[in-house]
Amino acid sequence: KTRVRFAPSPTGLLHVGNARTALYNWLVARHAGGKYILRIEDTDVERSKEEHETQLIEDLHWLGLEWDEGPRIGGPHAPYRQSERLDIYREHTDQLLNEGKAYRCFCTSDELEAERLRAVAEHRPQVYSGKCRAVPPADSDARVAAGEQFAVRLRIPDKPLRFHDMVRGDVEFASDTVSDPILVRSSGVPVYNYVVAVDDALMEITHVIRGDDHISNTPKQVAIYEAFGWPVPQFAHLSTILGSDRERLSKRHGATSIASFREMGILPEALVNYLALLGWGAKDGTTETFTPEQLIKEFELERVTASPAIFDFDKLHWLNRHYIKLADPARILELAWPYFEKAGLLPPQRTADAQTVKWFGKLVALLLPSVDRLKQLPEKAQFVFRFDASPARADAENATILQTEIAQKVLAAFAARVSQHEGALTPEQFKNWMNEIKTETGAKGKDLFHPVRIVLTGAHSGPEFDKLIPIFEEGSSLALATHIPS
Ligand code: GLU
Repeated sequence: KTRVRFAPSPTGLLHVGNARTALYNWLVARHAGGKYILRIEDTDVERSKEEHETQLIEDLHWLGLEWDEGPRIGGPHAPYRQSERLDIYREHTDQLLNEGKAYRCFCTSDELEAERLRAVAEHRPQVYSGKCRAVPPADSDARVAAGEQFAVRLRIPDKPLRFHDMVRGDVEFASDTVSDPILVRSSGVPVYNYVVAVDDALMEITHVIRGDDHISNTPKQVAIYEAFGWPVPQFAHLSTILGSDRERLSKRHGATSIASFREMGILPEALVNYLALLGWGAKDGTTETFTPEQLIKEFELERVTASPAIFDFDKLHWLNRHYIKLADPARILELAWPYFEKAGLLPPQRTADAQTVKWFGKLVALLLPSVDRLKQLPEKAQFVFRFDASPARADAENATILQTEIAQKVLAAFAARVSQHEGALTPEQFKNWMNEIKTETGAKGKDLFHPVRIVLTGAHSGPEFDKLIPIFEEGSSLALATHIPS
């Protein structure tokens, strides 16, 4: 039975790299009808923070990557937080020491540093000499009794360390390039390579799927499984995610945390779809849009590529537009409102009256085709909220249009009607006006419509008048009267 895990360290925000790791694990579990486990790797007390764990869990929920076992819900291998499993690690360390598979290392950091410098000077790999391997058990016990500090190291067997990787094939490390790994530091804190192997074995993980920054840790972990006589899981190391300049993706390339994508108004289904494509592709080689259900059906580790994936913000935005179009309009309105509230354009949603809510629906429907992130909406709506029809606001091209003689005639006729008009401006009324103005001024086509459009929206192209006018109907038709230049 397939059992996979996502094992984040709660030391910061969840970024696209780890989110992709979480997604691929989730997809493998769902595809196989197996289990997806969340394990919090918080043995680094200095850097692990509860607020990071909370945010991480929120981000995973938002992405829809629900786990079958893990923090908050428990499971047969609880606890799922490493800081709560220290007794388990201690027992296992004792077992390895008793069986002679691990040994106490009394070397001080000065001694280790001297060894390292010697290795550098002699152009040898910087590998621990294994000096303390030879300390006889009785001496070792006596030194502990005398209060000497020690770390615990695994005795690495003298043979090449091999494993098969589902993404990159066979991987081999010569044993003289790998130090006897420290399992427990002299401070008593067990290290990542050790606890990860113990937990993956005890939690019966069948596939370890993670970023390729861990590839050099894997031989050490394999040695730990072997020391315990545990079956070794399958490994799949996912390629690095790069920016468009082929450098490792980082802040320099733009916001890359899941929280920041959510903040920009990226829909979770768009991000999930995009992350799935970062290193994996459809069987037919062309399909790019996948709902989570389709991904579950199609996803196979066999099609994950070893070459680095390049993060393409434009493609993410394109997918987001695709999902915005598919989404339930009520959901989009719900998500869009807070951006207007934050921009100071609308009151909190729960305090808004029914008319405003209805009007907002029309406004968003009008603007939605021009955005690919919801955060862009308030900016596009400026013409409604901060209505200013003065020619000075128009850019040079539009200002030139407004200054033509024919435009002046059209606008004067339009302004006259607006200033005498009471109440809402309906599309029918607007259409009548335009027909009258056409007859009155002789203007038609662009000459007739561009000036009016510019004073209404600040641009000479944009949404259909049929959709645009209703926005003014309940919003700012009064503003028209005061701003039309005369
Ligand atoms: N806590 C490790 C990390 O966040 C987990 C690595 C692993 O999946 O083994 O990098």
